[in-house]
Amino acid sequence: MNSNRSSILLIYTGGTIGMKADAPDGVLRPFDFSQILSEVPELGKFACRIDYEVFSPLIDSSDVEPGMWQKLSSIIYGRYDEYDGFVILHGTDTMAYSASALSFMLENLSKPVIFTGSQLPVGAPRTDGKENLVSAVEIAAAKDANGRARVPEVAIYFGSKLLRGNRATKVNSESFEAFDSPNLEPLAQAGINIRYNDKLILPAAQAPLKLHNELDTRVSILKIHPGITPGVVRNILLGKDTRAVIIETYGAGNAPSSDWFLDLVNRASNEGKILVNVTQCFAGTVDMSIYANGKCMENSGVVSGRDSTTECMLAKLFHLLAAGLDNNTIKQRLSESLRGE
Ligand code: ASP
Repeated sequence: MNSNRSSILLIYTGGTIGMKADAPDGVLRPFDFSQILSEVPELGKFACRIDYEVFSPLIDSSDVEPGMWQKLSSIIYGRYDEYDGFVILHGTDTMAYSASALSFMLENLSKPVIFTGSQLPVGAPRTDGKENLVSAVEIAAAKDANGRARVPEVAIYFGSKLLRGNRATKVNSESFEAFDSPNLEPLAQAGINIRYNDKLILPAAQAPLKLHNELDTRVSILKIHPGITPGVVRNILLGKDTRAVIIETYGAGNAPSSDWFLDLVNRASNEGKILVNVTQCFAGTVDMSIYANGKCMENSGVVSGRDSTTECMLAKLFHLLAAGLDNNTIKQRLSESLRGE
């Protein structure tokens, strides 16, 4: 074996890429890993060693729970020195949540952690799974002229684009271009060559990898909409088991200015809940200083989530709430970029 060859750990968690239409109802269910290996012989053509870790049970990613992120990050942390990069095969439905979570759980990355999957099973004639998998492996193994990892961060490779994991969101349930990161250009674009956007890619950390495996999931999401009722808002904002609420607002961070709504926001804030404002818009940022309705939120102690996706904010809150920090420090960290988010 050539010791200069890159080595990749491919972790298979489930998702459409490895699914098969099952009898008797013909619906897609996770199948075993051998199907992927036999359908993608190209994996054997790489000048790198690929080892495999297969989850049991394999899951549809709509069954993902934070425990799965703890398992994934522990595997990567435990085997970090053995490999040059990691590829995670994952269902698309919650891939952006998982990629966001791992970006916070793995601090000081100097190696790639690339999520990918597909819209069609790898055994289907028009599958997008092969290209996604093969390019993800190539990206995970890519080195610069000095032999350092080209993409030392958590990213999603899908539909010819490499996106920062904690900036990405699933945007299409059927197109092969299922993901986008509306507030950040792709980190790379694959065509005949893979063109890396080196200016955007995070530098490799010099410090040793640190695992943050604790997560506090006492976070709720309140999506504002016309006709929302005081009862619904009260239940979410003042929920006994809730430590933080992501408020998905309109446009630049606006919400109703009615007394009952602002009273509830104030009460939650005074009870020590952390309230974060994230826009429902696909792209753009929260700026609560533009409109009076946004200013009311800011005056009630709501923190701006700026241009964060909801997926990223949820993962960041799970991470920060578990870190034993006081509320002021958590609010401060929410306004800083910890992992390029
Ligand atoms: N339901 C599937 C999953 O997320 C969808 C996919 O993989 O594309 O596991």
